[in-house]
Amino acid sequence: MRITVASGKGGTGKTTVATSLALSLAVNSAQLPPLFLDCDVEAPNAHLFLKPVFENYKDVSILIPSIDQSKCTSCGKCAEVCEYHAIAVLGKNVMVFSQLCHGCGSCTLVCPTKAIREVPDVIGVLESGSTPVGINFSHGILNVGEPMAVPVIQQLKKWVTPQPDQVVIVDAPPGTSCPVVESVRNANFLLLVTEPTPFGLHDLTLAAQVANELKIPAGVIINRDGIGNAGVEDFCAVEGLPILMRIPYDRAIAEGTAQGQTLIEIFPEYTLLFQQMLVEISRIVDQR
Ligand code: SF4
Ligand code: SF4
Repeated sequence: MRITVASGKGGTGKTTVATSLALSLAVNSAQLPPLFLDCDVEAPNAHLFLKPVFENYKDVSILIPSIDQSKCTSCGKCAEVCEYHAIAVLGKNVMVFSQLCHGCGSCTLVCPTKAIREVPDVIGVLESGSTPVGINFSHGILNVGEPMAVPVIQQLKKWVTPQPDQVVIVDAPPGTSCPVVESVRNANFLLLVTEPTPFGLHDLTLAAQVANELKIPAGVIINRDGIGNAGVEDFCAVEGLPILMRIPYDRAIAEGTAQGQTLIEIFPEYTLLFQQMLVEISRIVDQR
């Protein structure tokens, strides 16, 4: 089973939930420790909580055009076909703006003189290893200044193969843009972490739309329960979204997570609550 933990915005406690869910599974001797994928490749931080020892590394590249000026006739067809304005013909020179290039290959296809060949451009790296409690941990890191997170997420998801019956926990990036959709794709369940405020409701609404569009069953965790208003609960009731856990607003949690502790390390009683939540998620997924 693949569970993606997402939230409409950053700072809602998404990684706190994802890492605690993983740890609660790892300490359950009846279950295989999970596979954890941190797909928040622009700012991965789950490793700070789960503390893996990285042993495997892989560069992530996309193919970008390289121009052989001796074969180029300056016809301009490559620039015409590029939807991302990543290639420009200026007089007799063809310029490639690698950070705009999506590696689609269209310019290579249309070049009438075969003046373009594709060369790899490294945009990030994948790392994997084991945590002290046996979680198989992997994450991707997008190089600073690179705009395209999706290829890193795609390659991270392909790089690791779960064992049969191994639960996969995916920590998605914040927001609802393309990297989130890529992280959510193929999930069996979407766990949405929100807070009970108008901002939380706004972002939860968008995240729930992603679940609807992708036809993935979803449930909600309300973090910082006790602040704000009842808007999130009302929305969940109308949309038929089960509220699977409430985590109260508590200074001890904020202080603990700031020091790199997971929720179940701060309050061990949450271990059982996360395990029970997984049983409920399995039931919802089986019902589908
Ligand atoms: S399509 Fe090929 S020949 Fe035409 S400008 Fe581009 S690189 Fe040069
Ligand atoms: S590979 Fe695609 S995105 Fe990159 S320059 Fe060529 S046409 Fe543009």
